[in-house]
Amino acid sequence: MSSVFNRRTSGSVVCPSCGSLVGVRDAKCYSCGRSNPGLWGFGPVLRRLGADFSFTHVVIGACVTLWIATLLMSGGSVGGGGIMSALSPSSTVLILFGASGAYPVFGLGRWWTVLSAGWLHAGLLHVAMNMYWLWQMGPALTELFGPARTVIIYTAGGVAGFTLSSVAGAYFPNLPFLRTAGLTIGASAPLFGMIGALYHYGRTGSSIARQMAVSIMVQAVIFGLLVPGIDNYAHLGGFAGGYFTSAFLNPMTRERGDHMIVAILCLAASALAIAASFVVLFR
Ligand SMILES: [Zn+2]
Repeated sequence: MSSVFNRRTSGSVVCPSCGSLVGVRDAKCYSCGRSNPGLWGFGPVLRRLGADFSFTHVVIGACVTLWIATLLMSGGSVGGGGIMSALSPSSTVLILFGASGAYPVFGLGRWWTVLSAGWLHAGLLHVAMNMYWLWQMGPALTELFGPARTVIIYTAGGVAGFTLSSVAGAYFPNLPFLRTAGLTIGASAPLFGMIGALYHYGRTGSSIARQMAVSIMVQAVIFGLLVPGIDNYAHLGGFAGGYFTSAFLNPMTRERGDHMIVAILCLAASALAIAASFVVLFR
């Protein structure tokens, strides 16, 4: 019998905590003691979701779609000056969609934008650059950490990066390299989370991962120094967020069903943050 959700009602499934085989109706896993290891029969669906999920494609699809949406909503006010401002949505529309930074977070009380800002971009070059980096790193990270832990690292990097950037913008003085912005967006904060995780993995797992992290980091820092308007606080916070999330998730262990549940919650919270940005402004 198969339904849309393919809920399993008999037989054995894999415990989402420890990976042992358990009966789908067992109240407790005999290996690790987790209660409801069968997840009401939804465990196999979660596992398949993880196997089918292409993190890199999903993020690129969402970022490009949202960039086009913000452009369209900006209508006539689309910037067309230099290369950095080519095809730029207006600040008002970006705030509407959930831009983060000192002004939205502390000025407007929109704290949840630390979850939404990573999905928004300020122009063609901005989105193209970030998606290129994602294309370079996404498959490697998904391979090393698994798709669910990659989502968790990506989300944590974004939250940490935009939180640091917003706090710095509100309370820290401006430094030459560490400028703060009233408004901040872009996938580079969560991407720095991926770099941080790769760097952490490289310390314990493989030197290739570490070399990759360092090489991307050097490029990003040079880019951050040369190009005006780069939010280096967000990058710094993102790196730290990804590094510590990787340490916490222990990439040397196998990805578990529990990671997929947390990953789904991360993506749902991010989507909700964008939705909330709309609703609250029109309240
Ligand atoms: Zn177990």
